[in-house]
Amino acid sequence: IHYYLGLYEVTDMSISVESMYDRAFVALESLKGDLHKKVAYFKDVMLHERIHETVTLDELDRALLNDEFEIYLQPQIDIWTGAVISAEALIRWNKPGRGIVSPAEFVPIFEKNGMIAKLDYYVWELACRQLRKWQEEGHEERSVSVNISAKDFYLMDLYKSVTGLVEEYNIEPSSLKLEITETAFVLDVDKQMELVRDLQEYGFVIEIDDFGSGYSSLNNLKEIKADMLKMDLKFFEKSADDDRAEKIVTSMIRLANELGMPVVAEGVETEEDMQLVKAAGCQLVQGYYYAKPMSVPEFEKFVGARPYGNMKAIIDRVISEME
Ligand code: C2E
Ligand code: MG
Ligand code: MG
Repeated sequence: IHYYLGLYEVTDMSISVESMYDRAFVALESLKGDLHKKVAYFKDVMLHERIHETVTLDELDRALLNDEFEIYLQPQIDIWTGAVISAEALIRWNKPGRGIVSPAEFVPIFEKNGMIAKLDYYVWELACRQLRKWQEEGHEERSVSVNISAKDFYLMDLYKSVTGLVEEYNIEPSSLKLEITETAFVLDVDKQMELVRDLQEYGFVIEIDDFGSGYSSLNNLKEIKADMLKMDLKFFEKSADDDRAEKIVTSMIRLANELGMPVVAEGVETEEDMQLVKAAGCQLVQGYYYAKPMSVPEFEKFVGARPYGNMKAIIDRVISEME
């Protein structure tokens, strides 16, 4: 049983009881989709958020029909050789009259009300179409990671969706890497792990996204046998205590490697960040220090000018070093 409370503190007795109730309800609704908060107090800003959310939701179908969503690709680089290994597909909303909108603005809204599954499927399909195109052009080595919302596990038959897509586009499942956030495993670890195992058996590469941002990270590692681990440096903000943050980052990378998982360090912004993760034995990096997410034509130019490495070889090497 999950319980949630929305509270409105009565300070102005001239407001009708219905409005008080509505406000408590708006506060309650703000908790939807958050597995960890149980109580919310009403704030004025919640009303504005509600309006923004309603407008955004109304726009989704039109935006899909108009092809307003596109993927940007951010290269994942071999920290030791500088070769491009893969790329992450990140959704962008090209909104008429507004320009490119960041996913931070709309993904949480679509997650909250369940529309995210539709959007994610659309993104996966864009990625598959791109992979197909590259294969036809002779670039079989290229792969793309796509993001899977924790919500997708409940909203769709994930296995059927992704296997259906690779069959339809006739691509290698290993070229479509699946990024799953740690939070997806909070409820029902056993069931989720079984699904992950099935996906791996089918040939998909599974990456745990935003590792370290979640709730029971170290304990989860015991259960989650992913192929790669993504750690975002922003979750280890160095402001409070530089030395401790560095030690944690270093130990996490070593631990992941000892468990047979190469690490993709995300949010690598400076030479210093790069040196830190390199010294810990990190294999892959993704961050502004190397490249920002870019449109597909820009990515093609980027990747064309650099050597391309082998992802499978990196995974195999880490596994063999473990043994
Ligand atoms: P994420 O999957 O962890 O993606 C990494 C985010 O970090 C991206 O933000 C990327 O642009 C940003 N980033 C990369 N390198 C750096 C760096 O050096 N410094 C800083 N400050 N940031 C860096 P973006 O593209 O805004 O995406 C944000 C989040 O939105 C993603 O986090 C992911 O959770 C979500 N998202 C993006 N596309 C999709 C999608 O198609 N489906 C779903 N469900 N979520 C998506
Ligand atoms: Mg991601
Ligand atoms: Mg991430």
